[in-house]
Amino acid sequence: MSHETALPDKPLIEIASSAGWCFGVERIVDLAEKLLASEPLPIYCLGELIHNPQEVKRFEARGMVFVKSVNELPALKSGETRKILIRAHGVVPQVKQILEKRGWEIIDGTCPLVTIPHQFAKKIAEDGYRLVIMGHEEHPEIQGILGEVQGLKVRVDVIPGPEAIEQLKLKASDRVGLISQTTHPYEKFAQLIGEVLKRCLEVRAYNTICQATFDRQDAIRELAQKSDVVIVIGGFKSSNTARLAEIAEAYTESHHIEDVSELKGEWLQGKKWIGISAGASTPHRCIEEVKERIAQLTAGTGAQVSAHVSG
Ligand code: SF4
Repeated sequence: MSHETALPDKPLIEIASSAGWCFGVERIVDLAEKLLASEPLPIYCLGELIHNPQEVKRFEARGMVFVKSVNELPALKSGETRKILIRAHGVVPQVKQILEKRGWEIIDGTCPLVTIPHQFAKKIAEDGYRLVIMGHEEHPEIQGILGEVQGLKVRVDVIPGPEAIEQLKLKASDRVGLISQTTHPYEKFAQLIGEVLKRCLEVRAYNTICQATFDRQDAIRELAQKSDVVIVIGGFKSSNTARLAEIAEAYTESHHIEDVSELKGEWLQGKKWIGISAGASTPHRCIEEVKERIAQLTAGTGAQVSAHVSG
C-alpha cells in the first residue's frame, strides 16, 4: 500500500467519516425506545429492528419481541388494539393490510428513503416499461418493491449487478426502467445502466441509492486507499456493511467483523495505518470498543487515533 503523505513512526488508527448509524436507523431506534417507555410489554416488531445482533439482543432483554411473520403474532381479543413496530426496511403493502385487519396499530418505522424506490418502481411499471431492480431478491427492501408492483402487467427482474445482465435477455425494442436497492454501490448501478443502454433503444434510470450509502462508500474508498488494513464492523446480514467490506477489499486487506471479540491481533501486526469503518446499523459504542481494542493490541507500538466518528 503506497501512502501519499509521510507516515508517522507509530501506527495510526483512523475511523472513516460517516461510519455507523444512518438517519433511518437512528429514527427506528428512537421509535423503539419511545414504545418501550410508553406501552405495555412486550412490544412486537415485525422483523429484526436493525441488522445488528448485539442491538437486537439488547432490545429483546428490555421487552421487545421480534417476529418473522404476521402468523407468529398473538391473536388479539375482540376490541383489543396493540401497537406493532415496522422496521426501517419496510414491508409489502399486503402485510400492512393483514395487520390492520387483525386489530394491530402500525407504528411505521420504514425509512422515508426506502419508499423512494417504491414510488419509482410503480411509475416505471405504470408507464409500461420493463422494470429492472439491482439488488438481492430476498432482501426485505426488494420484497417491499415487488409488493408495490404486484399485479401491474410488466416484466420485473431483480439482478445483483451488471455481471448478471444476460439473465435479462434484453431485446433492442425493449423499454427499460432501472432502480437500485438503496445500499448498493453506485459504480455497479452506473455500469448496469451502461450495459442496458448498449442493448436497448430506450432506457430510464432513477438513482435510488441513498445519500447515507453514498457517503459511507466514498469515505471507505478514501480510507482504504491509504490504509494497510481496514476493519469493517457490522452485522453479517447487513447488506450495506457487506458492500463496505467489498469496496475496502478492492484496495487493501480488509476484515468484516460483527463485534470486538472477533478482532485478531495478527491482522494488525506490522501495519502502519489501520482504518475502521462500520455499517449503517452499527452503534457508535461498537466502533469505540473496536478502536480501543486496536489501540490496546498495538499499545507496544504506540498507536495514535487520528479521527473521530462523525455524528
Ligand atoms: S441506509 Fe439509507 S435507506 Fe437504509 S435506513 Fe439508512 S438512510 Fe434509510
